[in-house]
Amino acid sequence: MPELTNGGTGSCLCGAVRSRYKVESTAIGLCQRERCQRQSGSAFLIGVVFPKKAVTIEGRLACYEATASGQKLQRHFCPICGSAASITLARYPEICSMMGGTLDDRTRIQPTFSIWCSSGQPWLKLPDSIVCYSEYPEGTFGT
Ligand SMILES: [Zn+2]
Repeated sequence: MPELTNGGTGSCLCGAVRSRYKVESTAIGLCQRERCQRQSGSAFLIGVVFPKKAVTIEGRLACYEATASGQKLQRHFCPICGSAASITLARYPEICSMMGGTLDDRTRIQPTFSIWCSSGQPWLKLPDSIVCYSEYPEGTFGT
């Protein structure tokens, strides 16, 4: 049998939280919504979406739960170093959005779209290869 080449690993800044994924991501997109800028501390968050069952996270995670558009959304982070690790959403229970900056293999981080470009930092110019949506078209990250 050929060796599985899918999958990969990631970690937070201090290494206390480590992640493994067994399959390729189903979507990679940026979010420029104000709350995602606040959480990431940067101009956008890189969401790398996986089927939740294909992701294993080791180490203790803290969680900040908020309601977005009437639905619960959990932002998981390392309680030691504060690195954002992942987001889970009540309305999409089958998926887990990993923070792109925590994944080890950067060659796989190729975002194809950005949501909430309407609230982006005014200086930010994304490459033409990234489709910009003003808000969030339903189903962009998955269903
Ligand atoms: Zn950490």
